[in-house]
Amino acid sequence: MTYSALSHLECSRTAQKYDADTVQGVSDEGVPLLARYDIELAARTLTREALAGRPATLWRYHEMLPVRDPASVVTLGEGMTPLLPLPRYGARIGVPNLLMKDEGLIPTGSFKARGAAVGVSRAAELGVKGVAMPTNGNAGAAWAVYAARAGLESLIAMPVAAPAITRTECVAAGAELYLVDGLIGDAGKIINAAVRSRGGYQEVSTLKEPYRLEGKKTMGYEIAEQLGWQVPDVILYPTGGGVGLIGIWKALLEMQELGWIGPRLPRLVAVQAEGCAPIVDAFTAGADVSEPFPDAHTVAFGITVPKALGDFLVLRAVRETGGTAIAVSDDDLLLEQRRLAADEGTFVCPEGAACFAAARDLRATGFIGAGDRVVVLNTGTGLLYPSTIPVDVPTLPVTGEISPRR
Ligand SMILES: *Cc1c(COP(=O)(O)O)cnc(C)c1O
Repeated sequence: MTYSALSHLECSRTAQKYDADTVQGVSDEGVPLLARYDIELAARTLTREALAGRPATLWRYHEMLPVRDPASVVTLGEGMTPLLPLPRYGARIGVPNLLMKDEGLIPTGSFKARGAAVGVSRAAELGVKGVAMPTNGNAGAAWAVYAARAGLESLIAMPVAAPAITRTECVAAGAELYLVDGLIGDAGKIINAAVRSRGGYQEVSTLKEPYRLEGKKTMGYEIAEQLGWQVPDVILYPTGGGVGLIGIWKALLEMQELGWIGPRLPRLVAVQAEGCAPIVDAFTAGADVSEPFPDAHTVAFGITVPKALGDFLVLRAVRETGGTAIAVSDDDLLLEQRRLAADEGTFVCPEGAACFAAARDLRATGFIGAGDRVVVLNTGTGLLYPSTIPVDVPTLPVTGEISPRR
């Protein structure tokens, strides 16, 4: 019985092969490494029928994940998040067939748990003792939590402006945490220097190790499985480093190789905030890579990434699937966040809300048709960002009364 059909790693630019059973970072070209699998070997045990009987976690796709020994799996029950229909809100924006993959319902409250579960499991399996990363908050919280679960050390640096709760999660999990008075890129330079001077840590920044992507790709497998092995017409994804979007694209191509889905792919949409839209600018300019975005700022903190290492892969995924890239304003995304919560009872994070604002705009321009089945990735719970909703309500004295009518 093969638990993982991992065969090798591959440079995402030159396709040069690398050994998958030693600790690896980026390729010699300085670009991300992609995990490749022996599809025939995987397909012997991984069938759509076999999946039906497996536990509802992302580890159900273990043949197409990199962890070789089931005993190495570090899990808190992540994966198989709900794919919720949103009929009332969908009718409001003219997309009756609107669905939300709700990653708010996952350990640590953001989809970063997927990348952390698989990345930490594989790092520990390969003998790594500690992980180090810069983060906009959610990834740091997730990696700190899974590192604790695995018995690894974690060294984390995040901007002072990152969501406060993610600091608390890091400290609770025993991480060595630093706040940086700057952006994620500044934190990255500090971590990179620390890893080199200290030794003993693996740097696990976005796409600087190959396995976070493998965890995040499981969102793509789950969407297809939850739709009865159909793919939707459009998938909208809030894009920072782009790992989730690249991962979903990778999963779609793997499922085609497995013979699970047909030739038609969903149109992938990279959604950014107007205050940090390097991918959108590159897409519009017809460029293959992005330029660093100046003075980046948005309430959708998780997508404040002025320059992504995997930008060329995001742009390729969007173009090859006939998708697009679009930016929305903070005012617009905050408005849709409130509408969605009031219409459907789902309190999404601002990054997820950006995708709803984008869906609304793309329906108005006709990119999304009235009959399209559209999946929005809500990448985290709104509970991580309590200050996005102003609470202006009266405080009553103990003898207070509420008037009979509102
Ligand atoms: C990190 C993050 C994103 C962006 O994810 P990438 O894979 O880096 O593009 C989106 N939403 C939330 C809530 C995040 O924490």
